[in-house]
Amino acid sequence: MERMFGRPIVTQEQMRSRIREMGRQISSDYAGKDLVLVGVLKGAYAFYADLARAIRIPVRVDFIVVTSYGSRTKTSGKVKLVTKLTEEIKGKDVLLVEDIVDSGLTVQHLMKSLAKKKPRSIKVCTLLSKSDRRAVDVHVEYVGFKIPDQYVVGYGLDYQQKYRNLPYLAVLDQMDHQEE
Ligand code: 5GP
Repeated sequence: MERMFGRPIVTQEQMRSRIREMGRQISSDYAGKDLVLVGVLKGAYAFYADLARAIRIPVRVDFIVVTSYGSRTKTSGKVKLVTKLTEEIKGKDVLLVEDIVDSGLTVQHLMKSLAKKKPRSIKVCTLLSKSDRRAVDVHVEYVGFKIPDQYVVGYGLDYQQKYRNLPYLAVLDQMDHQEE
């Protein structure tokens, strides 16, 4: 029997159907363009894989790794790029694929850094957005779900590097990590 962790707030079915819609929208917006999907690891890995397969136009795939919160659940505002892109993005249309935009600092930092490589355009697509928590003004073109200010796990998102493999999105209750 599968053990449930946390309180599910977005189910697998809701996820699947919303990502299908996002894929359709992106395919239409970027038809005829040279699109590079840049995934922000580790958190975006599950969303990225599903989104890429929901997009019906040819895309290039690439990834960057950034350091996350570590074991804490509050934003530090400091973002460190651990890896570089392998694809040339100069003159291309870049879509940055994130798991969640919270304060917006990570996205702001990444956009600045990628802009130096002179892409033709650069936009952001995120599975989740906590818009009430925004500390900087960043424009996010595609948002899967707007969620309230609660710490969530699953579908790529972690708590102390765990729970990324949950197939749904859940709010981690105190009980869940006391049990370990
Ligand atoms: P920001 O720089 O926008 O404040 O934070 C973005 C990053 O914070 C995300 O990529 C993610 O790693 C982390 N983050 C923010 N909120 C949550 C959350 O509710 N759960 C998890 N697991 N990570 C979060």
